[in-house]
Formats: sequence, C-alpha cells, structure tokens
Amino acid sequence: MDFDGTITRNDVVDGILDRFTTNRNWEKIEQEWARGLIGSKECLTRQLADVRLTERELESYLESVELDPGFLEFEKWLCGQGIDRVILSDGFDYFIRKVFACREVPHIPFLSNSLRFEGGRLIPDFPHAGESCGRCGHCKGSTLRSVRSRLGHVVFVGDGLSDLCALPESGTVFAKGRLAEHCHTNGIACHEVRDFRDVQRGMETALQEVLAGRNR
Ligand SMILES: [Zn+2]
Repeated sequence: MDFDGTITRNDVVDGILDRFTTNRNWEKIEQEWARGLIGSKECLTRQLADVRLTERELESYLESVELDPGFLEFEKWLCGQGIDRVILSDGFDYFIRKVFACREVPHIPFLSNSLRFEGGRLIPDFPHAGESCGRCGHCKGSTLRSVRSRLGHVVFVGDGLSDLCALPESGTVFAKGRLAEHCHTNGIACHEVRDFRDVQRGMETALQEVLAGRNR
C-alpha cells in the first residue's frame, strides 16, 4: 500500500512544500511531473531545494499529520488475519517513521526514498531508483516485479499518479482519489474507496467468497 494520501489523509510532502517553501514554484514543478515531463526524482529534488525550516517546525508539522480514519483498525485486522503487508512509497522514510512514531503505530515494513534533515534543509536520496521506469523515484511496479515469485495474491491500495506502475503487478486494486479517476478513464479494474474502512469491508467480502468457494 501507498503512504502519502492513502495511509495519511493528505500528502505529507505536499504539506511540507505548501508550508515551508518561500515561493509557489513547487506547484509548477508538480504540474511538469503530473504531465510526465519530468520524473519524481527531478521533481522532488527541485521542489525540496526551496524548503527552509527548523527541526521543531518539521516535528510539529509531522505531529499534526492525520491518518486515514480506518487505517489503524485495518492494520490490526491484517495482523489478526495473518496477511503480510508492506508500504511502497515514492515519498520519504523520515516522514513515514516520524508520523508512525508519534502515533505509536507498530512497525510496518516499508520501501521508500530516503531523506535527511541538515541545517534547515531536507536532502533527498533515491536508493531504490535502480530499475526505474523514468517516472518514479521509487518504482512500485519494479519493486513488485522483483519479489513477484515470493508473493501470493497482491492487493494494492493507493491514491495517486505515483501508484500507476503498481497497477499491472496487482491482482486487486483499491483506489482513492486521482488513482480511481485514472482507473475509470483507462478501463482499469479497481474498487473505488473513500478510506481504509471501505478497503477492509472489501477484503472481508473477498475472503468470505474464497472460503465459501472452498466449502462448496
Ligand atoms: Zn514506475
């Protein structure tokens, strides 16, 4: 599952850019990315170059980030069912760790880009950019392909354009927002959801159907 805008209500990176850049240039750069003119590596590097903030401001913003209203319950439900989960993010490890730490969310494995705070600046790095498609900093499609043989049925939950590469690698897709719009426009099968309460209901129904099929 995706992190920014999926597990969190809003995109954490956009929230940082909105509050802590000195100009609105980041929105123009975001448009270039959305139109496919640049990849996320270039997009995020250029956007973060304009960010200036103190460590206290960063901590305080990350403490204010809201989670999806059904996420914690969903996470407990997955654990109870023994279903493996992993967060695939084209955002940053620093934000995922801090957002979870201040809400005492138990450890969830994740793969993302990395970030360090240094002298009032945020310095990004892209350790998973290896087999990238050119669009993503961390390509979720490439990551899923690399572990395909070890996976069973893949259920993906996402909300945005950085999730597109995961779609062909996933057996079932739950989509919020722009990802749902993209799926509808392009005839890609997905379950449109508002939050993780809908995802959990959808997965419970699917599991019941599988069990009923087995007992038939
Ligand atoms: Zn990609």
